[in-house]
Amino acid sequence: MNKKHTYVECQHCKWQLQNFPDKDWFEQPCERCKNTRQVPNPQEILCNLCGECMCPPPGTMNEQIPHGLYQASVTGGYDSYHLLDMTTYTFNFCEKCLRQLFIQCKIKPNVYNSFKPPDEDPWKEDQKYYEYRVWKDTGGHHQAYLNKKCNAVKGCPNDAVYTRLHNEDFDENCCCEEHKETRAYGNSSLVPFISNNLKSFL
Ligand SMILES: [Zn+2]
Ligand SMILES: [Zn+2]
Ligand SMILES: [Zn+2]
Repeated sequence: MNKKHTYVECQHCKWQLQNFPDKDWFEQPCERCKNTRQVPNPQEILCNLCGECMCPPPGTMNEQIPHGLYQASVTGGYDSYHLLDMTTYTFNFCEKCLRQLFIQCKIKPNVYNSFKPPDEDPWKEDQKYYEYRVWKDTGGHHQAYLNKKCNAVKGCPNDAVYTRLHNEDFDENCCCEEHKETRAYGNSSLVPFISNNLKSFL
């Protein structure tokens, strides 16, 4: 982190200059680059723990914004032991490493989501959702569908009974009787299960 960065064009400014040519930059300076039009190369903003990039993949909307604990710092005081007095430590921890640290915590972090009614055990629900997301992204959800198993919950042993009809389209989301409620809401409803080998006849 002490290394000098190379710089790239600030995409936020680029977008603003294209869409709001009359913007008052003095009144509303760019928070990301302080009107220098240059930001540190996102590929060089790395997590201290795993050494990986802190920013979303190139080509995505927020690719120049470090995600996680970025440039966090802590300073030891007179009675410090494990950190040294008058010494400041600055570091980055990416979101993936934060998740791993949270999992290791004896006392879990408080979890709050302003869009959701509070759960009984918010950390547990959060972790469950995260594990489902990873399971989905690493092919478990797709495999369960091919195996004609419910994929509304990670590792549900039940056979799929319903397929989700979402915005008048079928997808691979299916469920058992028990997990019906997690599939049918909003613009979604349920139809009898449509397996992979039946799909081509539709
Ligand atoms: Zn900028
Ligand atoms: Zn990391
Ligand atoms: Zn199920």
